[in-house]
Amino acid sequence: MGKLKTYLIHWHPPIGNSQNPHGCAAHYLGCTDRSLIERFQEHCECQGAKITRGAVLQGREILLVRYWEGGWSIEKIIKKRHNSKFYCPICNPKQLSIFDPNNRKQKYLERINLEVKRKPIE
Ligand SMILES: [Zn+2]
Repeated sequence: MGKLKTYLIHWHPPIGNSQNPHGCAAHYLGCTDRSLIERFQEHCECQGAKITRGAVLQGREILLVRYWEGGWSIEKIIKKRHNSKFYCPICNPKQLSIFDPNNRKQKYLERINLEVKRKPIE
């Protein structure tokens, strides 16, 4: 078992009911003890979670945009705020400097987003 990481996936535009801001989603927050690329690959292949599966099947390009070292305690704090968007460096670019002042994590995530195999849309 590897170290736990909490990660954030973003897509655009949101899926769900656009008339109801609580009924539409553009983020998924998850937790894994495996490598980020391995776990993210599952999301891209519709094996990760129901919501990311929906996003992929609706033609969204899902992106791995942020991660934290640590597991469910972090996930719980972020979920409690009901505002994953706030933590997303794409939706809220101010977060980028907090998340990654040296740009190192960001480069790592960019590589994962490029290397991952995406499910062709049928
Ligand atoms: Zn976002």
